[in-house]
Amino acid sequence: MGSEVKRMRPRATLAVVGGGVIGLAIAWRAAETGWRVTLYDPAPGSGASHVAGGMLAPLSEGWPGEELVLDLGAASLQRWPDFAARLQQATGIDVFSARESLTVALDGADAADLRTIADCVGRQGYELRIIDRAGLRAAEPALARSARLGLLAADELAVDNRALVAALRRACAGAGVDLVERAITDIDALAEEQVVLAAGYSSAKLWPRLPIRPVKGEILRLRRRRGVAPGPSRVIRARVHGRPVYLVPRADGVVVGATQYEAGVDTTVTVGGVRDLIADAQAILPSVAEYELAESAAGLRPMTPDNLPLIGRLTDRVVVASGHGRNGILLTAITVDAVLAQLEGNQLLEAKSADPQRFTDEKERR
Ligand SMILES: Cc1cc2nc3c(=O)[nH]c(=O)nc-3n(C[C@H](O)[C@H](O)[C@H](O)COP(=O)(O)OP(=O)(O)OC[C@H]3O[C@@H](n4cnc5c(N)ncnc54)[C@H](O)[C@@H]3O)c2cc1C
Repeated sequence: MGSEVKRMRPRATLAVVGGGVIGLAIAWRAAETGWRVTLYDPAPGSGASHVAGGMLAPLSEGWPGEELVLDLGAASLQRWPDFAARLQQATGIDVFSARESLTVALDGADAADLRTIADCVGRQGYELRIIDRAGLRAAEPALARSARLGLLAADELAVDNRALVAALRRACAGAGVDLVERAITDIDALAEEQVVLAAGYSSAKLWPRLPIRPVKGEILRLRRRRGVAPGPSRVIRARVHGRPVYLVPRADGVVVGATQYEAGVDTTVTVGGVRDLIADAQAILPSVAEYELAESAAGLRPMTPDNLPLIGRLTDRVVVASGHGRNGILLTAITVDAVLAQLEGNQLLEAKSADPQRFTDEKERR
């Protein structure tokens, strides 16, 4: 009798505002755990999630002073294999595109930086391996001869972000998420009992005191032509003339990213941005000159002042999951767990550094 009563009780309703990787993943998993979910987005999957590189690279991006960012990212990376396996089970789509990453130094200053990263990450208990010139040649024969030292992150994965968006959309449909293709202008007007705000940089428009700003990034998709040597088998990262550049493998070529500008809401692709990305990619992997330039695009990273996302309660009714900056694909896995915990009235300790209350006590002010 008791269980029958339970079965007949209407399920609690949840609105998810924003259908990038963050909102889609939350909507899917919340629906699987029993919430009646409506996802609102005028153009699902069209934001930063569509253009991203797809690296899951917390260790390679480690740096002194960024320890909380590293810990949060590493906790999410650890969750990714299970998250992806569950997604593949639900959809049949394997989202991984690489399973290691290698940062290379082209000069003495870069080499010193790699040792700094290895030391800093090592002090926090994670492992990166230094590789000499001969080791680099053996690992990635197509690398430029000027690559002199490498830093291998053997557990860092990469995903095809577009496959990820497609898989999450399919998973949402399969789990019964109701998709409403319209923009929300007023959170208070939503009828659902709980709301998750996951609109990327636009979350700050819906909740004006959220400290999230758009940071522009340009990125290229290069397609390997017939007869051209295979591209890298793992993510390759480097600094060229002080500019960071990375190449992320895809089934048909590589993604080359990314520029970074404080330019407001601007997704114009500039000639200078494309020129620098191609030149820097070629300095690491000369054969990319033979690839087809298949696409250039720009997206807006939802950045916060301390490079940590905002994941947690704003009010008894509203949970925010935005501000993932350069790492939203990486942080999808832990964000889902943290938000599901919040919806059940709990806090995921590993995501405590992302608590939005660190900036302002929104509960008091609204
Ligand atoms: C060039 C570039 C490269 C990147 N590379 C990586 C990488 O290698 N690894 C990594 O981890 N991260 C990377 N990122 C960052 C990553 O893309 C973002 O952090 C992540 O996509 C953020 O996801 P999101 O769902 O929060 O936002 P978005 O993907 O921007 O989605 C927000 C959604 O909200 C919707 N929306 C907006 N306003 C409203 C509204 N009023 N009502 C309803 N819906 C609304 C939009 O239509 C959109 O679909 C990169 C970003 C860029 C720009």
